[in-house]
Amino acid sequence: MNDDNSRELYDRALSVMPGGVNSAVRAAIEPYPFFVRKGDAGHVIDADGTRYVDWVMGLGPLLLGHDLPEPVQARIQQKASEGPMYGTPTEIEVDLAEFVVRHVPSVEKIRFVNSGTEATTSAVRLARGYTGRNKIVVNQGGYHGAQESTLVEGDAENPRPSSAGIPQSFSEHTLPVPFNDEEAVREVFAEHGDDIAAVLTEPILGNYGIVHPEEGYHEFLRDITEEHDSLLIFDEVITGFRVGGLGCAQSEFGITPDITTFGKIVGGGFPVGAIGGRAEIIENFTPSGDVFQAGTFSGHPVTMAAGLETLKFAAENDVYEHVNGLGDRLREGLEEIVADQAPEYTVAGTDSMFKVIFTRDGEAPTNAADVKNAETDRWRRVFWGQMKAQGVFLSQNQFECQFVSYGHTEEDVDRTLEAYKHAL
Ligand SMILES: *Cc1c(COP(=O)(O)O)cnc(C)c1O
Repeated sequence: MNDDNSRELYDRALSVMPGGVNSAVRAAIEPYPFFVRKGDAGHVIDADGTRYVDWVMGLGPLLLGHDLPEPVQARIQQKASEGPMYGTPTEIEVDLAEFVVRHVPSVEKIRFVNSGTEATTSAVRLARGYTGRNKIVVNQGGYHGAQESTLVEGDAENPRPSSAGIPQSFSEHTLPVPFNDEEAVREVFAEHGDDIAAVLTEPILGNYGIVHPEEGYHEFLRDITEEHDSLLIFDEVITGFRVGGLGCAQSEFGITPDITTFGKIVGGGFPVGAIGGRAEIIENFTPSGDVFQAGTFSGHPVTMAAGLETLKFAAENDVYEHVNGLGDRLREGLEEIVADQAPEYTVAGTDSMFKVIFTRDGEAPTNAADVKNAETDRWRRVFWGQMKAQGVFLSQNQFECQFVSYGHTEEDVDRTLEAYKHAL
């Protein structure tokens, strides 16, 4: 397989961009990432003309795949050609806000921003402003974007920044606990209950393998936050409009969070984030409240058009049936291959999310430590390249999950299963 153009592009990129990329995980591919020339339905074609079945799908935003249906494309192009943005409101922001409020029961009001990171940053500030408290409980291995309050490691006794450039004093207000560990949450509430503004959690850990909540975990979080007048924030940047369809993962789990953060799919492939929730809480954002929140590009008409038309298309067509059906076919096929060839591995995922975790004992991971203990080096150094050599593009490491889109076909699934058979 010829990689000359990708290698040359990466060489140029290394001279002018740190690590040659604009987002760290893209450089995880060794020895260098391949550059994409264009997408085509469920496939991408790289800079050297090689075609791959693409299960990365932009790392989550592309529910419909690379070919946008005609009405989606037309509305995006119309908005772009009318002049990209204005610094004053437009109707399409209201349209998308109404759509989300209609479909996600916990959301009465919503503020659109430009990234998932911006959404979680604003949500944390909002929770602190609303409750007048400082501390945030997060899950080890949970990911809430590149923001100061959540880039922490360690545990609740010893939180420390997980990145250079963040003062230790910031991390003192963040309490990381293992996912699915009710006792750890009870302990932090026993110690800090009066100063916990919120528990911030992904309904399903989607950036650290895929880790599913155990029965009752989210109900427990809902109860304990209520008991202590803390807020429950669901970070649905990945799961929103993917798991549980238009009602999101919270509808699947039957949980009503106080605040929900969105991103990825809600922008239809363009930069987006959003913070939604109970009106009485969301109203605390400026200008109706005193928690400062603003953005030049927030509610960008092109993004709003892409998000609205994507979700409308999903509401009116068999999008979720299609992606979830192919997700089932993939996971069932993978289960069989794993049982046969690597019984110590685990197939994880639901709806249109999937991942094979290279666990060492065949036990489904229940927290981040379980995923970290998997054969992550084999995944990255050997397995990923074998899949690529067979024309299958998987996410860059063991931790990022993979996505089925409306552009994928049964043939893509079957080809991918064949590739797993050879690579596992
Ligand atoms: C992707 C992601 C983010 C960050 O979103 P960006 O748009 O990359 O800033 C936050 N939370 C979760 C759960 C995500 O998956």
